[in-house]
Parts: sequence; C-alpha cells; structure tokens
Amino acid sequence: MKADLLYEGKAKKVFRVQDNDYSLVLSYKNDATAFNGEKKAVFEGKGRYNNLISAAIFTYLEEHGISSHFKKVLNDTEQLVEKTTIIPFEVVVRNIAAGSITRRLGIKEKIRFPSPLVEFYYKDDQLGDPLINDAHALLLSDVTEEEIIQMKQLALQVNNKLHAFFNDIGLELIDFKLEFGRNHTGVIVLSDEISPDTCRLWDTATGEKMDKDVFREGLGDLVGVYDAILKRLEAVK
Ligand code: ADP
Ligand code: UDP
Repeated sequence: MKADLLYEGKAKKVFRVQDNDYSLVLSYKNDATAFNGEKKAVFEGKGRYNNLISAAIFTYLEEHGISSHFKKVLNDTEQLVEKTTIIPFEVVVRNIAAGSITRRLGIKEKIRFPSPLVEFYYKDDQLGDPLINDAHALLLSDVTEEEIIQMKQLALQVNNKLHAFFNDIGLELIDFKLEFGRNHTGVIVLSDEISPDTCRLWDTATGEKMDKDVFREGLGDLVGVYDAILKRLEAVK
C-alpha cells in the first residue's frame, strides 16, 4: 500500500499511500537528534519503540474522547495516519519547569507551575524554532483566533489525559510537544507523534529521567529506557 516517499524528517519518513489521497504512512527511523539537529546518533530499535508507544498513546486518547490522525499500526516501525497539512507550530504544554524555559526565564528546574503553561513555537529549523505569541501565530499561518483557542484547549485536554496515562505506569509528565494539522475538510486534527522523544517523563519513585533527555544530556542507555516504558505499558494493558 505504501507509495512514494513524500518527505524525510529527522525522526520519521512520510510516505504516500497508493490510491488514497487522505492517508499517509509514517515510518519511524532509528535516528535521534537534539539541539536542532546538532547532536545526532542512531539507536537500533528506537523507531519501533516510538511507533508502538505513540500508537498506544493515540489509542488511549481516542478511547478517552480525543481523536487524532492515528488510524492503525502497520508493522513494528510504521503507522497509518490521516493526511493533514501541518500547522507550522510546536505546541508545548508544561507542568513542571525543565528544558528551555529554565534557560529562557531563569526558572529553577522541578518548580511546578500553578497551572499548566501552553506555549507556541514556530516550526522553522533555520530560525531555531522560536517562541511566538498569538499575534505572531496569526501572521505566520492561516489559523484563526478561534483555532488558536481551540488548539490551546485541546493541548490542555491532552495534558489531563496524558497525566493519567503516564501516572498509571509510574511516570510524571513534566512537559510535551504537540503538532496539529488541517485535514481535507479543514478540521484541525492532532497529528505527528507523542512519545518519549516529544515528552519529558520522570520516574515517580526515583526521579530518573526516562525520555529523550537521556540522549540530550548523555545520561545512559536511551533504548533501555524506551524499552522499560513499553514494558510498563504492556504490564498495565
Ligand atoms: P522533522 O520534520 O521535524 O524532522 P519528523 O522526522 O518527525 O520531523 O518528520 C515527520 C514529519 O511529518 C513532520 O514534518 C511532521 O510535521 C509531519 N507530519 C506528522 N503527522 C502528519 C500528518 N498526519 N500529515 C502530514 N504530515 C504529518
Ligand atoms: N520538544 C519536541 N520537539 C522540539 C522541541 C521540544 O518534542 O523540537 C519537546 C521536548 O521533548 C519537551 C518539550 O517539547 O518535552 C519542551 O521542550 P523545550 O522547549 O524545553 O526544549 P528543549 O529543552 O528540548 O530545548
């Protein structure tokens, strides 16, 4: 069913589907990148973990009333999704301070925000994905003010569901990134991936980092950590 390659990104390849204009195949690679592509490595098996964990998360969200582009797992590293036109923003939700916000605003790591923060970044590698405000979002895309509100509300709903999802497997959801796209009817749909590559997850019992920060900060065995997450998910199924 897989047809020609449409796009190769840092973490995934995107393929057209034969005789179907409304679906795509996302093929997860074993590549890991950080710091806007400056740090790179290949980890055998990583694509499988991101594919299966992302699929489990989208399935959970669907079961809890939040639909997405996800349709089904095709094999270890590939999933079928609804084709969207990606809105060029990374929508980040933060529960606890970590990463760029600690550097940008001087907030100490591990401080819990009184209520979750939602931030928009402009998806542009050349510009280093800058933080933008709502006025910039209106300038830089075809979204309306109502759609900005809708994306923020959806992001907070996803945060609530993901908090419970990860809590069940002994992980604290620190922050995460979402992408939204527009489907062929113009509706905004949760797209891309949700995985330990796009979330910060700290072990509830030990505080150990169990996400891509293991690679970013050179803390140890990235694939071992992703394997532990998948095993915990399988244990609670
Ligand atoms: P990057 O482009 O940042 O290197 P990836 O390697 O993850 O990222 O590439 C996957 C690409 O597919 C991203 O550009 C992402 O926005 C895009 N994408 C994700 N879901 C969909 C979808 N449902 N329809 C179209 N494009 C999608
Ligand atoms: N994130 C992501 N892709 C990006 C940038 C961030 O998935 O291109 C995720 C990241 O994994 C974290 C959250 O978004 O869970 C917030 O990231 P932050 O802004 O702190 O950036 P970083 O510390 O990664 O530079």
